[in-house]
Amino acid sequence: MKVVAVYPEVKDVRVIEHDEPRLTGPTQVKLRVLEIGICGTDREICSFHYGTPPRGLKHLVIGHEMLGEVIEVGSQVRTLRRGDLVIPMVRRPCPHAHCVACRSGRQDFCYTGDFVERGIKEMHGFMGEFVVDEERFMIKVPRELREVAVLVEPLTIAEKALIQIHDVQNRLPWTCPVRSKEMGLNHQCHRAVVLGAGPVGLLGAMALRAAGFATWVYSRETAPNAKADIVSAIGATYVSSTTTNVKQLAEMVGNIDLVYEAVGASSLAFEVLESLGTNGVFIFTGVPGRKAPIQVDTDLLMRNLVLKNQVLFGTVNAGRDAFEASIRDLGVFMQRWPGAVKALFTNRLDLDSAPAKLRDGRGSIKDVICHV
Ligand SMILES: [Zn+2]
Ligand SMILES: [Zn+2]
Repeated sequence: MKVVAVYPEVKDVRVIEHDEPRLTGPTQVKLRVLEIGICGTDREICSFHYGTPPRGLKHLVIGHEMLGEVIEVGSQVRTLRRGDLVIPMVRRPCPHAHCVACRSGRQDFCYTGDFVERGIKEMHGFMGEFVVDEERFMIKVPRELREVAVLVEPLTIAEKALIQIHDVQNRLPWTCPVRSKEMGLNHQCHRAVVLGAGPVGLLGAMALRAAGFATWVYSRETAPNAKADIVSAIGATYVSSTTTNVKQLAEMVGNIDLVYEAVGASSLAFEVLESLGTNGVFIFTGVPGRKAPIQVDTDLLMRNLVLKNQVLFGTVNAGRDAFEASIRDLGVFMQRWPGAVKALFTNRLDLDSAPAKLRDGRGSIKDVICHV
């Protein structure tokens, strides 16, 4: 079967032949790959900044955002049947007995760093025709979501953040005081700013809107543009950093309860952090490249953190709870804003076009490789 492989040493990305995988244990399932999304992480791996082949190999099969169909199950598989649609989790636990996170099935919080990730770190990914994997890493998706289910994995970033926001904000009275039936879904008492209008930012904005936040998306490009259209379709406000500076943004929003950083630019993030509101939470999801140090007003930030009860946290990867929340929310998004969800898909391409797309994704929101 064909797979897309990255060769970091010789800096090459190409389609190669692999043997079709077979079940080797009773708890495994075999999947036919239906769709694989391409994200910023994949593009970084294909510019050779990131990504590690399995031990002893020169190449890594790429791809971690996958929708598959079960075509074969091992004798001890209980929850899945042929024909089921599934999304696989990406990260696999480290082997250490003392890692309480991995030993509790929460490898997204692994302490040791010795986890592996399919298509990213020391384990082949999904960008091929078939995959064999363990039942316990599969999340079942309803067939109604077939068309958009490849977004489940990238949406888990926001869903894991929302679960943590809920835990953190339980420290204070956080429930909206007047939430009558008439106000319904449009009632917004918390204000969120999303930094970046890539797929992570746009999916984050949708999750925040669905959770009842008044939402502003702050991104470089001036409106009108395709991303700004999606933002207004979900009832959020698009603000361009080209025409509105951070101070003006903060005045527009009022007390910023939440910042969801999805752009990976530390200078912008720390500038916005200065405007985080009382009892506010700032969530980092981006991984910036190393650039020259910048100046930050640490006295101001520390004063704000203390005097305004602020919380900053970073978040990576996701657990089963976030995958399940992601599937529920995608269903909600499709009911409320089907056009906006579908507009996230820029290109659907075949496997042979993948290497070129992985090397150059300019202008795309979400590119997807699919098999028909
Ligand atoms: Zn991704
Ligand atoms: Zn671990």
